[in-house]
Amino acid sequence: MKTKNRPSIPQLGRFLDRVEFIGLNRQTLTFLTRELFEEIRTGKINIQTDEDESELVKLVLSRLDTLCADSLVPLINATGIVLHTNLGRSPIEKSILDEMQESIGSYCNLEFDIDSGKRGERYGHLTKKLSFLLGCEDAIVVNNNAAAVFLILNTFATGKETIVSRGELVEIGGSFRIPDVMSASGTVLKEIGTTNKTKASDYTAAITPQTAIMMKVHRSNFSVVGFTQEVTFEELIPLAQSNNLIDYYDAGSLNLFDAPYLGNETCAKALFEHSPSLVSFSGDKLLGSVQAGIIAGKKEFIDKIKKNQLLRMLRVDKLTMAVLEKTLTRYIQKGPQAIKTHKLLSKTIIDMQIQADTILSRIDHSQKLSIGKTSTYAGGGSLPQHLLESLALIIQDHPKNAERLIKALRANGLIARIEKDRVILDLRSIDDDELTHVTVILNTVLEEHP
Ligand SMILES: *Cc1c(COP(=O)(O)O)cnc(C)c1O
Repeated sequence: MKTKNRPSIPQLGRFLDRVEFIGLNRQTLTFLTRELFEEIRTGKINIQTDEDESELVKLVLSRLDTLCADSLVPLINATGIVLHTNLGRSPIEKSILDEMQESIGSYCNLEFDIDSGKRGERYGHLTKKLSFLLGCEDAIVVNNNAAAVFLILNTFATGKETIVSRGELVEIGGSFRIPDVMSASGTVLKEIGTTNKTKASDYTAAITPQTAIMMKVHRSNFSVVGFTQEVTFEELIPLAQSNNLIDYYDAGSLNLFDAPYLGNETCAKALFEHSPSLVSFSGDKLLGSVQAGIIAGKKEFIDKIKKNQLLRMLRVDKLTMAVLEKTLTRYIQKGPQAIKTHKLLSKTIIDMQIQADTILSRIDHSQKLSIGKTSTYAGGGSLPQHLLESLALIIQDHPKNAERLIKALRANGLIARIEKDRVILDLRSIDDDELTHVTVILNTVLEEHP
């Protein structure tokens, strides 16, 4: 290629010795610099190469910054949905992450028995705490609840039949369909009843010598109302066990305790009083911890699951285990109020009024904001029928500006929602320690969009 005024390109080695690059990975810099020099040489980019090469240095460093910028960034969730699947579901207490550094920032006894000095049981670390909190005999943790469903069906019902009500063949999120997971696990799905009605006699009539499991699935993200009938899991347990079958409940999201703000769903302790064979649920829904699937139930069944080779592929690592253990410890020591998810879900209107006042008192353009009541859901397939009252900051602006405004907030790291053509910040999902940040973002955006 011919260029008239060829820019002067420095010698690579000497260029990389410049003080601006001290402490940075030389291999990365070499790659980025070569790429840049090549683009200059071929005329793909046009720059004035000055005497002191500072323009070139700036370009290389800016490319390095772009490459190193975090893809995963923190956001403020002002949608009101506390367990927002797209926003990472359950928030994790920052103090839990701080505490974790001690156990996993170094070597640990993940698979080591300190007493005997021999190889230890990696699946046993959380058993005592889970048994205490749930009231179950034994428990094991896998990658997520989808993996739990798969592993249970694969362990006990490969080539055999699993009975499920037609009213519970649900799809959760975009990629989890109960019938698909069931068939992938190797079990034969035996559908019974109808979409709106399933009776105990439907279960018993479906039993064949091939039947292994009677399964119940929490509907999670929809409800069936009107002319309906279903068999509760509590009723299914004796039905299965008296027929020598395994009763299994994919509970989706399980709450450990009863509280008015959690609606009227059965809590774990009440469920385990009925001695179910197996129950599974997510670690990052109402439990308020990290992505995980918790399988709890009778020891004889958990023992069998531990012998399934697939567990090796679905098990969790020490990071997950550490977060989960710290979360469980908080429940035991301090109760649900020490768990961020429950702090948010249990906030009263008065709590949120105080939050709103705090924000308004620090806003430059407070005349653009008003406070209004709204309602929201817990989200993440939890409490699908339970509407939570909430309070929101409403941005008063022309409806045609709503999209532009919500986009500007998003660009500043705040995810709001539009209700009745107005951008609203639902305080249900905003924690007290985020109020200053919310104020800063609002001030910035309202300044730009007066
Ligand atoms: C959420 C949910 C799942 C999937 O759980 P993940 O932890 O996201 O894998 C499975 N079953 C039910 C009923 C659910 O609500």
